[in-house]
Amino acid sequence: MNLIILDRDGVINQDSDAYIKTLDEWIPIPSSIAAIARLSKAGWTVAVATNQSGIARGYYDLATLESMHARLRELVAEQGGEVGLIVHCPHGPDDGCDCRKPKPGMLKQIAAHYATDLTGIWFVGDTSGDLQAALAVDCQPVLVKTGKGERTLAKPLPPGTLVFDDLAAVADRLLS
Ligand SMILES: [Mg+2]
Ligand SMILES: [Zn+2]
Repeated sequence: MNLIILDRDGVINQDSDAYIKTLDEWIPIPSSIAAIARLSKAGWTVAVATNQSGIARGYYDLATLESMHARLRELVAEQGGEVGLIVHCPHGPDDGCDCRKPKPGMLKQIAAHYATDLTGIWFVGDTSGDLQAALAVDCQPVLVKTGKGERTLAKPLPPGTLVFDDLAAVADRLLS
């Protein structure tokens, strides 16, 4: 299968250092929504793996998070595409879970769901944690410059990391 996995905040929607706590604060990047729709219509399965420690911190609840993801699915569907499995880590940094990136637990959940191997699968993110999670399961780490991407770019990147301006440019490459 053609599978691609995306981080959410800073890749699909605008990032915020103050957390994205309400549906109103979830602001999509229009070209990223279009990119997901284009990939989907070309036969790609587009899954999402997102750290959401704001849940553990009590900033928002699961229903609010699900409303953001329903909106995401709706926006992509309006353009004829489909979003695949969305996996989130609700834990905080001190909870010792296996899913919070840079741990690769969510990527493994996605692989198990689709009964597929992760080797070489592109994982697109904007932080070092995303790139490290990708490396841990032999995914292809892909950095976009949106969100915290420019900040991440200022630090050493794992060898082999691919860098693109944004998710639209990633889709352009995969669909060319
Ligand atoms: Mg991010
Ligand atoms: Zn977790």
